Amino acid sequence: MAARTPSAIALPLPEATPTFVAPADWQAIDFISDLHLAASTPRTFTAWAAHLRHTRADAVFILGDLFEVWVGDDLAEGGFEARCVGVLRDAAATKMIAFMAGNRDFLVGDAMLEANGVTRLRDPSLIAAFATRVLVSHGDALCLDDVAYQRYRRVVRRSGLQRAFLSLPLAWRRALGRAARRRSDSLHPSRERRFVDVDADATRGWVAAADVPVLIHGHTHAPASHALAPGSVRHVLSDWDLDGNGTPRAEVLRWTAQGFARIAPEGSAEGDTAHP
Ligand code: MN
Repeated sequence: MAARTPSAIALPLPEATPTFVAPADWQAIDFISDLHLAASTPRTFTAWAAHLRHTRADAVFILGDLFEVWVGDDLAEGGFEARCVGVLRDAAATKMIAFMAGNRDFLVGDAMLEANGVTRLRDPSLIAAFATRVLVSHGDALCLDDVAYQRYRRVVRRSGLQRAFLSLPLAWRRALGRAARRRSDSLHPSRERRFVDVDADATRGWVAAADVPVLIHGHTHAPASHALAPGSVRHVLSDWDLDGNGTPRAEVLRWTAQGFARIAPEGSAEGDTAHP
């Protein structure tokens, strides 16, 4: 697709969409997203930590909103976030762990990822493996009908504003993060709220421009696989919540040479991983 062609598509695929090429000997790649980890979600944390430790996959690609909130890498110096970073670091020592930012954790910094061996994944990205390619995204950028959110997203992703925010004392940033979530919760009162879905035209446009048979995204908390066009499919990842906010749910999308399968997290039966 010619990049400069005037188009009805409101959100063309970025020209600089990077491709990650998987090593030829990989057998499986796991995709997860929307765990919304917080100190108040210990069961979800435990299942996630167990999966990262025990998965048979060669890589785990985290497609955004791993954390409920992230207001700067100095969060990881102690407490719950330090335990999460420890899980990432231990897992990254034995397999590839890739992190794509979501709308809750877009302030996770390169410094934290690099220090712990985690690979940064741009949104969107292409992944080449098993003799094909897939397009991956968190998905929030595609939700064009959420006009207020898209305006907010454009503002908060400005690097100058992010630098200014990150220069504030941690206590202020925590308070601002809480205030932002309260505002979001007042707009969407239930955690099981109905999310705006991805824009159908923009999604088809991305898949056509990338010339891939598969798009994988999260964000909408509406796990399902949808046909996009003959020969192309959109796999929507499940959010995770094992801490009492609605139906318990935790799911991994596993990609192998045989295709895609939705599986339960591995190693979840263990009772000893709550406090690694
Ligand atoms: Mn999200």
